[in-house]
Amino acid sequence: MNITIKDRELEVKEGQTVLQAARENGIYIPSLCYHDRTGPAGKCRVCVVEVEGMAGLHTSCSLEVSEGMKVITDSEKVLEAQKLVVNLLLSTGKHDCLSCEQNGICELQDVAYYLGIETPAFHMADVKPEIDDSSEFVYLDHSKCILCGRCIAGCNGTVVNEVLDFGYRGHEAKVICDNDVPMGHSSCVQCGECVQLCPTGAIIDKLRRGKGRPWETHKVQTTCGYCGVGCQIDLHIKDNEVIDITGKEGVGPNFGSLCVKGRYGYHFLNDPARLKTPLIRTNGSFREASWDEALDLVAKNLNRIKQESGPDAIGVFSSARITNEENYLMQKFARATIGTNNVDHCARL
Ligand code: SF4
Ligand code: SF4
Ligand code: SF4
Repeated sequence: MNITIKDRELEVKEGQTVLQAARENGIYIPSLCYHDRTGPAGKCRVCVVEVEGMAGLHTSCSLEVSEGMKVITDSEKVLEAQKLVVNLLLSTGKHDCLSCEQNGICELQDVAYYLGIETPAFHMADVKPEIDDSSEFVYLDHSKCILCGRCIAGCNGTVVNEVLDFGYRGHEAKVICDNDVPMGHSSCVQCGECVQLCPTGAIIDKLRRGKGRPWETHKVQTTCGYCGVGCQIDLHIKDNEVIDITGKEGVGPNFGSLCVKGRYGYHFLNDPARLKTPLIRTNGSFREASWDEALDLVAKNLNRIKQESGPDAIGVFSSARITNEENYLMQKFARATIGTNNVDHCARL
């Protein structure tokens, strides 16, 4: 199917939305309530475009492509409508970007920059921060919330924890946990899905606060070591220290989602008590050893036990925290090298 967006002729897939087609072809249309994993919500109306032959403005996140369609993303009418929406969002919240943890990765900030908004056009009465600090890992500041609903869609639809919803009406509307209790007293399991999906600084990682700006970190993609699912994660590293973990968007098996362990259980990485060299116990106390010395000692003792008592006197226990390939090697080592089928796994115990 052929369409034109911003004077570029594109070949797009049937069933795609205009926003998806634009993104796939590197054309920026601002959006806030849309996320690839939560889909179109049609709430914020920041992604409006004009289409030749169609009256009015249309939300590109919910408008399907059709043959020959001509989409205009930057007409005066479009930009004016987008500016109005973003100005209203900025004016009704407390958006003090300098001190905001999301500064630099905030989608609202990006849209304001794209539209050339330097200061909010409307001046509202002073908005007070409305903080919910009760959760161990998740920090809420309702005054930065733009009511896009991405956190709610993620909590209810993606991870199906069903904690979040909109509560109250009109200008009192806000995101609530359960029956409007503090998050730390709610049924929240602290998976951080809402943190990952929030486009602003309204829901953020509590542990990362004050640890470093996004531009001071670099990301390293790796596999979560907590279980055999193999979720793909990004380590956010500053000064050789992991200060945050996020799920890798767009990559399976988890496509950005994580559990509480994978997202927040990383402090052992930087813990000074973490073992970094093998230890050998002699006369009841441990001493540090090289890998060569430790492996030689293990091999010597396994050989001794095998000769004295036979291979079935040895058993091999493996772990859910290592990869399938490493588990495969462990059982191969037990069966082919030692000669025993005594193989087990901590996840069964
Ligand atoms: S949420 Fe975004 S726009 Fe609001 S203060 Fe933070 S960085 Fe600025
Ligand atoms: S942390 Fe997870 S369970 Fe808790 S509110 Fe956010 S998405 Fe829902
Ligand atoms: S907390 Fe974030 S994701 Fe949730 S509605 Fe507010 S701005 Fe959107």
